[in-house]
Amino acid sequence: MVAPEGRCDYLTASMAILPTEPLQIVEPRTPHGRNDLRRNLIGLSRDDLKATLVEAGLEPFRARQVWQWIYWHGVTDFERMTNIAKKTRDRLAELFVVARPEIVTEQRSVDGTRKWLLRFPDGNEAETVNIPEQDRGSVCVSSQVGCTLTCTFCHTGTQPLVRNLTPDEIVGQFMVARDSYGEWPTPTETTRMLSNIVMMGMGEPLYNFDNVATALKIVMDEQGIALSRRRITLSTSGVVPMIAKVGDVLDVNLAVSLHAVSDEVRDTLVPINKKWPIAELLAACAAYPGARNSRRITFEYAMLKGINDSDADARELVRILKPIHAKVNLIPFNPWPGAPYECSSNNRIHRFAEIVNDGGLSAPVRTPRGRDIFAACGQLKSASQRSRREKVLL
Ligand code: SAH
Ligand code: SF4
Repeated sequence: MVAPEGRCDYLTASMAILPTEPLQIVEPRTPHGRNDLRRNLIGLSRDDLKATLVEAGLEPFRARQVWQWIYWHGVTDFERMTNIAKKTRDRLAELFVVARPEIVTEQRSVDGTRKWLLRFPDGNEAETVNIPEQDRGSVCVSSQVGCTLTCTFCHTGTQPLVRNLTPDEIVGQFMVARDSYGEWPTPTETTRMLSNIVMMGMGEPLYNFDNVATALKIVMDEQGIALSRRRITLSTSGVVPMIAKVGDVLDVNLAVSLHAVSDEVRDTLVPINKKWPIAELLAACAAYPGARNSRRITFEYAMLKGINDSDADARELVRILKPIHAKVNLIPFNPWPGAPYECSSNNRIHRFAEIVNDGGLSAPVRTPRGRDIFAACGQLKSASQRSRREKVLL
């Protein structure tokens, strides 16, 4: 994951030997395991929660109470839902659970970044990262285990897709982060530390849109986690036909993994470009609701030595983004073992940023965060898998 203003001078092949062991391990809570047949109430839309409770013989108004206990107070134990009669609480506990994903490890970087390796009841795992900044924190959430797309600079792209994450697993990632910071009940918008969500973990969120949309609607509900849509960013590699739907259904901030200014180069870096080339992608972006008002679309651009980092590339970037209300995030490439690319030099990155800035586009260079715990963009999960493989080999 990344944060503003920085350089990538540490980004060398020595990345591969940075420590992969957890700096701090948090005891996992009792998991809601495979053999527990009770239904998890987390991840149900408001309507589905009401229908589920009514089906279990409860009054419809209980849905609002239970919702607030789960998402406003962060309560996981029905016994603590004190405005609900004891008999009803017992019935709830008989049939349901309020379960987060199991925490396998929590790692804390020297720069304050925290990363959780989470395990779901079927044994699959995904990672979630929180990147704290001075007065806020962005939680980077995964949408899939692995990814079907094969972007050549992304380590997740080398892992096969295992499955889509379900709404409870997506919301659950943010709730685990809130647990870790003790951020319950929901604080006001100005005082909360976990103030933003970025759908920039593993997977392509627009290939799992329904589950991502259900999860984000839960997160935005004002009687619960109450995160404003302005605090949520969804990043896509460019699933063009879904972009308008993101605007219609969610209207959150949009980020697009652009990474190249010609179809020829983008076809190799982000192969989905062969299906939806740059011109179609930019047309969909120009039509996005955010592009019509003060909200800008973010274009992510990983700096790859000798591939996409020339002065001409920078000038072309300015030209193609002119018609769009855009900003650019320049991400120094995060290497991984066997990666076929290198990060551009600091000088190159800053010269590139200068040209883009002079062209009238904001183009901050993002400092990779959490490098000591392998929490940077494109590295999620892979490091955990690697670390486990290494342990097996020892
Ligand atoms: N699948 C979505 C969201 C997850 S990736 C997407 O592709 O947009 C989040 C961001 O990290 C994307 O912009 C992605 O292109 C970038 N990224 C992936 N691997 C990277 C790496 N090794 N170095 C720098 N950025 C990387
Ligand atoms: Fe998948 Fe995004 Fe990585 Fe591409 S950059 S392989 S879409 S996670």
